[in-house]
Amino acid sequence: MENKNYQVLLYYNYVHIEDPETYAKEHLNLCNSLELKGRILVAEEGMNGTVSGTIEATNKYMEAMHNDPRFADMMFKIDAAEGHAFKKMHVRPRPELVTLRLEDDINPRETTGNYLSPKEFYEAMRDENTVVIDARNDYEYDLGHFRGAVRPDIHTFRELPEWIEENKEQLEGKRVLTYCTGGIRCEKFSGWLVEKGFENVNQLHGGIATYGKDPEVQGELWDGQMYVFDERISVPINQKEHVIVGRDYFDGEPCERYVNCANPVCNKQILCSEENEHKYMRGCTHECRVSPRNMYVKEHDLSQEEINARLEQSEKEEGATNVV
Ligand SMILES: [Zn+2]
Repeated sequence: MENKNYQVLLYYNYVHIEDPETYAKEHLNLCNSLELKGRILVAEEGMNGTVSGTIEATNKYMEAMHNDPRFADMMFKIDAAEGHAFKKMHVRPRPELVTLRLEDDINPRETTGNYLSPKEFYEAMRDENTVVIDARNDYEYDLGHFRGAVRPDIHTFRELPEWIEENKEQLEGKRVLTYCTGGIRCEKFSGWLVEKGFENVNQLHGGIATYGKDPEVQGELWDGQMYVFDERISVPINQKEHVIVGRDYFDGEPCERYVNCANPVCNKQILCSEENEHKYMRGCTHECRVSPRNMYVKEHDLSQEEINARLEQSEKEEGATNVV
């Protein structure tokens, strides 16, 4: 039934790139010639990308990359897909690949945590003297995470060092494990932890994406889905069981469906069932529901009477089961 003639690639490499601007332009030509779509960042410290394309095109792309000595050892995480996962192709020069806003940036080629294979990570997670830190953002964690992992209360990666400083007692004397989607954020984050003096710092090599495909661990101890930054939004990881950890923003019921608040000024990402999307006109607050720019109201061409009826209904329920 499934017709998966496409692949989505996720990859990074910390390696010196001489002139990121020029390289980005050249690289865009390569991607366009293969009709790939996606987002790639190029910086002096390396390259980070995710692209989709036909199996043939993505295979050619990986071959071309591996033929470049700078990317000869690049590890690609490959997902089968039914079509493109992006609408456009961007290759952008950037000052850094991931931003921790540090006074002295971390060079992961010099300082980083120990790399653990999926099997080693799985075993380390089961050890009592271990603390597992999710190096991703709150909305990524809320859709899925390793069982028992700590959820830093952050909305962007650059807030992570400050959060750790404020909560470092959770890490002290423990074996620290960090993980993220494909591994790139952990390279810097674990390096920063080492620099801060934590002694037993380890990172999941290849990230959650690799862990889910590992034939031995098969994603075990992962609950929920993995958030991805493309049109798929979520992908499965645990091949053995599926425990839903996401909770509907409005009623707290198990939910793995992300939508953006219909008020374009807000645009907040919320987990929300289809039923609640209609009930609350996809607005995260009363203000977002009654906003004159509410996209849901426009999409469904609601009359003022219909809007009022839903507001009345939703406010009654929100009063009863408010989990916000
Ligand atoms: Zn909103």
